[in-house]
Amino acid sequence: MEEVFNMSDISTRVERLTLDMVRITSISETAGEDRCARFMYDHLAQWPYYQDHPEHLRLEPIPGDLLGRHNLVALMRGGQDSARTVVLLGHLDTVATDDYGDLQECACEPLALAERLKTQDLPDEVRADLESGEWMFGRGAFDMKSGLAAQMSVMLDLSERLDSFAGNLVFLAVPDEENNSAGMLAAVHTLNNLAASEGLEYLAAIDSDYTAPRFPGDENNYVYVGTVGKLLPSFLVVGKETHVGQSFEGVDPNQLASELTRSINMSMDLCDGAEGEYPSPPVTLRQKDTKENYSVQTAGMVELFFNYHTHRSTPDLVLEKLIDKAHTAFDKVIDRLNREYKAFCSANSIPHHKLPWQTRVVTVSELHYDLAERLGSDYEAHMEVFRKQLLTDTSLDGRDYGMKIVREMIRLRPAKDPVIVVFYLPPYYPHIYVEGENEREKHLLWSLTQAITEVESETGTTLIPKKFYPYISDLSYFSTASNPDAIRALTENMPGWGEKYELPLEAIARLNLPVVNIGPMGKDAHKYTERLQKDYSFRLVPLLLEKTLTHLLGE
Ligand SMILES: [Zn+2]
Repeated sequence: MEEVFNMSDISTRVERLTLDMVRITSISETAGEDRCARFMYDHLAQWPYYQDHPEHLRLEPIPGDLLGRHNLVALMRGGQDSARTVVLLGHLDTVATDDYGDLQECACEPLALAERLKTQDLPDEVRADLESGEWMFGRGAFDMKSGLAAQMSVMLDLSERLDSFAGNLVFLAVPDEENNSAGMLAAVHTLNNLAASEGLEYLAAIDSDYTAPRFPGDENNYVYVGTVGKLLPSFLVVGKETHVGQSFEGVDPNQLASELTRSINMSMDLCDGAEGEYPSPPVTLRQKDTKENYSVQTAGMVELFFNYHTHRSTPDLVLEKLIDKAHTAFDKVIDRLNREYKAFCSANSIPHHKLPWQTRVVTVSELHYDLAERLGSDYEAHMEVFRKQLLTDTSLDGRDYGMKIVREMIRLRPAKDPVIVVFYLPPYYPHIYVEGENEREKHLLWSLTQAITEVESETGTTLIPKKFYPYISDLSYFSTASNPDAIRALTENMPGWGEKYELPLEAIARLNLPVVNIGPMGKDAHKYTERLQKDYSFRLVPLLLEKTLTHLLGE
């Protein structure tokens, strides 16, 4: 560690620190995360700055965490008494290492792993990168210990010339990013508290998570201002059971769900783009009917939910679009059933009448108010007991829990006609669209442009600024839609909100920070061929970080 500390060349230092951190296996939701946090704490504690200011460095327990994990929080104050502060964020956890198969024991030993990989059958591109010597392999090297190493190394440099450094930094290294963001969600409160107790005014947050080629053969280096968001719009499609021999007497929820999926899945008309950047369109993460055993009765209900990436639409707008889709799908199915029934009657020479089905689409909050009105206090009391009981079943995740609540509401519903219930299930990751509309956003965009121009001219490397970090990450929790309609659309339509799942929306809205991701470049995150390009990641990233910080915190 002493050795790392004394390295004057920043890229050598970042590489060495990355190696040291990769060697501390820190798979998400294991004790390894805290070992990595402790290592980083010990490293920072040796710096003269933290020797002088030990009170600015701490491992902060994550409230209620079953593994007793900590966030690393390090404040560094510049020499000129200023409130202006930039947050540096990184996650110290990694995904598991099972994907390495028989190489698993050296997944976190980059040098040994490179040797072992040479003996494997590898895709041509991986082999070429391996043999070039310009890439570092290893679990977490790319995602994202090299990003943390770059941030720390830049801080160390700045700590040696604090007199000329305007403003302050808060460095946060958090666990659980690859799971439930427990670290970041606790850090939201830490940041608000720190702002109050230390008199800090945050300007922006910088993450250094991984960046990767966007298409085969892509050799661009990307810097992202803002981030993609994610919602999980969900449907309980309630049909009407019937005997297969009298199929026109029922409505098959599988047919309704299929029409819904056909119109939503992979549909570019729902793809939520902004400024010429489009995330991947919605795609199903579940579609299954609720029938457990074989019988000649058609299914009663279908559970359906979609991954939905956002760049600009808030939960209220997405909900509207999906209600619309549900209406259209329902109409189409009724039309089709009527057409087929007419043909069936004529083929059998029997009298035809119009089928009785009506398009019915409700949000879960509408369903709730309707039931409360019709069933009165019995309904509320019943649901309370039901929820309490459901909470004792720890095998249910937030999605199963929410789905079961909606199914119970449908069970109580006096009307038994077909209906599509629209709602949200967890998680929710707000998108952050840095439009340049307020001073902070303008300042971040300006600072980044300056820094990019300087790095390009000093190094001859082209950097491509983009608007939305394309991978779901902790960055989302620096800002959220705060207009009441958006919040209501989400919280009133997410069964289990506040019981099984919750976000500190108010605290996040208080931060309301524009964000940027300046991170290592590499390939195959979350695969055993995970690797980073050393020159860009170890030399260019720290340079760009340092220049961005200087412009952000300078006047
Ligand atoms: Zn990551």
